[in-house]
Amino acid sequence: MVGEKKGEGRKKIVAVLPKGGPAAKNPKYLNCVENGLGLREWLESLGHIYITTADKEPPNSELDRNLLDTNIVITTPFHPAYITEERIMKAPKLELILTAGVGSDHIDLHAAAKKGITVAEVTGSNVESVAEDEIMRMLILVRNFLPGYLQIINNEWDVPAVAVKAYDIKGKTVGTVGGGRIAYEVMKRLKPWDVKRLYYDRHQKADRFDKMGVQWEKDLNSFLPECDVVTINVPLTDSTRGLINKETIGKMKRGAYLVNNARGAIVDQDAIIDALKSGQLGGYAGDVWPQQPAPSNHPWRHMPNHALTPHVSGTTLDAQVRYAAGVREMLEDWFQHKPFPEDYYIVREGELAPQYH
Ligand code: NAD
Repeated sequence: MVGEKKGEGRKKIVAVLPKGGPAAKNPKYLNCVENGLGLREWLESLGHIYITTADKEPPNSELDRNLLDTNIVITTPFHPAYITEERIMKAPKLELILTAGVGSDHIDLHAAAKKGITVAEVTGSNVESVAEDEIMRMLILVRNFLPGYLQIINNEWDVPAVAVKAYDIKGKTVGTVGGGRIAYEVMKRLKPWDVKRLYYDRHQKADRFDKMGVQWEKDLNSFLPECDVVTINVPLTDSTRGLINKETIGKMKRGAYLVNNARGAIVDQDAIIDALKSGQLGGYAGDVWPQQPAPSNHPWRHMPNHALTPHVSGTTLDAQVRYAAGVREMLEDWFQHKPFPEDYYIVREGELAPQYH
């Protein structure tokens, strides 16, 4: 193989990215097979082998065909390649898995830890992008925006039909499940809006929330009934999978709104549909799905009062620049045997980062 002639330290790196298609003509559109996070020229100038592919479905995808001699895999939550234990076992040379973005639940972290593989992500790289998007989705739901928009497209004009379910966000209570980086950016942005702000996090109260006047609830059961709008900002872990389910939705105010840009599997898919149909939830918005890409017949596409999109909030052009730079920074460190910034590590020397415990 070509790669083995050019000396030690040469790595084979496989990045699994979505196809950009026409978007790839924009050189700023980095998160695609064609533009390869902007890393190709640099990696190849160092003598490394760099493969970018969108082909990721097991068992015979390009990713699978390369596992045997790949050293580094780069994945992205926007086109998740599931790095299962089975794949890890088929990759004897795999030493590093990088997430271009934030959220590494598509990787079997325990299996990586067991094999001594390092997993890291570009912590903080797109938190503002996601926070802005969450504020937008809250407003879309609370103001009942989409029915009015659809009226215009359908050549209709019916103010009462929209306004009968439209509210101000002023004076409402907005709560976040999770009090990490995205939650902080969301609460910061809501500060001048005259809303009561709450957060629930199973970890300690955080000073920075206190300083902004955001109240802490240590119990999900007392937090949920307080909120008119709940936004979810926790990673997908064993403790958060299905956290929002029939029972917890039942604790929310009738007609409250739910925004989820965290991960689809944090909510129970059918409980969301039932709650929208019964009116227990006034609306559901977000960009993350239990399966990505969502199949064309996914029931969430047609449920009432939703404001869902494909997984886009954390991949604005600005965010792409930041997380592509973070991936490069980590590769540079790795090649020089230097440590990454501390909070980039998700699995290090067999240990999982605290947010994944
Ligand atoms: P973060 O690590 O800064 O914060 C996560 C917070 O969740 C931590 O404070 C942690 O204590 C808390 N937490 C963990 N488990 C909990 C539990 N069971 N109950 C209550 N709190 C719990 O992470 P972040 O940067 O704020 O990102 C959060 C998640 O958002 C990511 O893990 C990722 O899944 C998702 N995300 C989505 C996009 C997107 O494009 N849609 C982009 C970035 C991140």
